[in-house]
Amino acid sequence: MPAAVCLQNVHKVYNNVSVVDDLSLTIEPGEIFGLLGPNGAGKSTTIRMVTTLTRPTQGDIVVAGYDVLRQPFGVKQQIGVVLQQTSVDMDLTVWENMEFHGRMHHIANSRRQKEIDRWLEYVELLDRRNDLVKTLSGGMKRRLQIARALLHQPQILFLDEPTVGLDPQTRRRLWEIIKGLNQQGMTILLTTHYMEEVEYLCNRIGIMDSGKLIALGTLAELRRQHGEGLVMKQNGDRWDYTFFPTMQDAKAFLEQQPDKTGMMLRPSNLEDIFVELTGRNLD
Ligand code: ADP
Repeated sequence: MPAAVCLQNVHKVYNNVSVVDDLSLTIEPGEIFGLLGPNGAGKSTTIRMVTTLTRPTQGDIVVAGYDVLRQPFGVKQQIGVVLQQTSVDMDLTVWENMEFHGRMHHIANSRRQKEIDRWLEYVELLDRRNDLVKTLSGGMKRRLQIARALLHQPQILFLDEPTVGLDPQTRRRLWEIIKGLNQQGMTILLTTHYMEEVEYLCNRIGIMDSGKLIALGTLAELRRQHGEGLVMKQNGDRWDYTFFPTMQDAKAFLEQQPDKTGMMLRPSNLEDIFVELTGRNLD
């Protein structure tokens, strides 16, 4: 089975500025991969290139065995895409949006109706099928986008910041939908700002900054690489962080300190690693 997504030495240059800079990355079938990074890191541009919406300036991108430049239609059949801006038609009903997308993908009528019902039921929108999209909440619109992206039975789903702007409860509901799809075998690549989202959903994480992939691995691997134990020390109104290979090492360090005022010990998390690597907070 070919890799779900394979990028090799990919570059994207806008106005002489390199926004994706020599990116190489392979995502295997069945993964939920999270691409994390601050605003402007190049996450959306990467998704746009992989989903054939933007041409790479240089490099190779192959999706489910299809080359994005030479076989864009092959790629499109294999992928479902949910981008940040809501792309559903507000003046059509839920069902009309699904129907339109199904016809665009030339899905035969009887199968189309079955698939529309199946996916609307999966995202719990079947009872809203005749409502205009503009009457739906933000979370419902996002669920409709996901149902629509799944209608032509893609193997790989791309989600660009799927839960941005949604309240915590709605976000959790979407997480369950995303997790459920992965359990059914769907490969998922998502971009996000939210650490908890990555920690909860993703089996592997890539951190991007200034167009480059600066870290790659499971959360456990990233913690092992950067240090599993953390000593925090209050320094005026900010905290200084020191990583240690293990919690025991951090504890031993703390115990040696003659003055432990303002010092704290805890296991490192993804946010600590992110801040350490990029020098930035996400929010
Ligand atoms: P992210 O999704 O990580 O926030 P983006 O991929 O949206 O990052 O943007 C990366 C950089 O590319 C930003 O500096 C952005 O301004 C720039 N950029 C994105 N799209 C375009 C475009 N169509 N033309 C020029 N610059 C762009």
